[in-house]
Amino acid sequence: MVERKKELLQEILKAAGKCDRCGNCLLVCPVTTVNSKETCNPRGMINAALALVQGGVAPEPQILAAVDYCLLCGACIDVCPSKIKVPTVLLKVRQYLADLSDKNASFSLEQQERINSAFDELCERCAAIEEAENSVRKAAYFFSCQARLNGMEAAAATVRLLSKTADVELVNNECCGLPLLARGLVGEYKELLQENIKLYEDYDIIVADCACCADTLKKSAEYLAESKEWQDSAKAFSEKVILLSSYLQLAGYQATNSNVSATYHDPCLANRNLKIKKQPRELLQQAADYIEMQCADSCCGGPCFFPADYPETACALLAKKAENIEKSGAAVVATECYNCLRQLKQAAEQSNGKFKAVHISELL
Ligand code: SF4
Ligand code: SF4
Repeated sequence: MVERKKELLQEILKAAGKCDRCGNCLLVCPVTTVNSKETCNPRGMINAALALVQGGVAPEPQILAAVDYCLLCGACIDVCPSKIKVPTVLLKVRQYLADLSDKNASFSLEQQERINSAFDELCERCAAIEEAENSVRKAAYFFSCQARLNGMEAAAATVRLLSKTADVELVNNECCGLPLLARGLVGEYKELLQENIKLYEDYDIIVADCACCADTLKKSAEYLAESKEWQDSAKAFSEKVILLSSYLQLAGYQATNSNVSATYHDPCLANRNLKIKKQPRELLQQAADYIEMQCADSCCGGPCFFPADYPETACALLAKKAENIEKSGAAVVATECYNCLRQLKQAAEQSNGKFKAVHISELL
């Protein structure tokens, strides 16, 4: 344990040590547009991480609080001349200080019950869906916890879509583990990951319709690279995971135009980590009268625990997003992440009918 903690400090130093404090990241960080305190921007957080490594500050809850105020959106990485992956650094600091945290890392009992019962409901909803004739592929669906809580319609729409291109298998998977990673609980995250690897062993392709899940599952190879027992299966597993829009394009799916005017909100982890930007747009151009909105790739404030932990900042970011959706004139905003969808639905409700928010599968 002590050895691992020492290693973590070395990893933080290696990942953050090249920061020359240029401040480029301040110009793009969404949190900085809402809160201008130096301790709340990427440079300030990197300084806090380095001070921890170099012994300038004690490992105290205030340091954990400083590195917690981040959306993990990755916008700062694109502009950093030293190529510092700020979210990776902050996650390592959260891991180092995880035992100081008093925040929830799991769903409430009520939510957990809902998550557990949602699988049977999805099976019932999808019982009548017919498979594509002469299907050449077999695709396993990854059913996100946020879909189980807030997006059953969208999940059923995804299964319907998948069934047009493949034999779809429903798997009662575990959570992807992002909530645990976000709280620095890497050991527990790896346990969930191993369960999911075993569950999907017999499938060649795993389609996730949530960018947060897809990105987190793809990290399995990286997090289990040191495990002789798991490294090969984790690598194979991460290679099988694909985000819905990317899968549909590869499968040659063609959508029918419904003449609705639609715009698209880029989930940060799809756009920046998975590099999926054109696939959902090309599909929406087939399915709708597509309008690109301004700042489509700016964070909506929705990742994981952020809206619950920092409601004011999340609301301010969502208000900017809602303004851009309204300016676009689109009747519908679509996205491919259930955390974003939860946020956008809130904005749609507050817009008094000016626009609707849907998962992309509901438009295709
Ligand atoms: S852009 Fe990179 S080098 Fe510059 S202050 Fe931010 S993290 Fe440091
Ligand atoms: S990941 Fe996003 S929210 Fe976090 S510091 Fe970078 S730009 Fe800011």
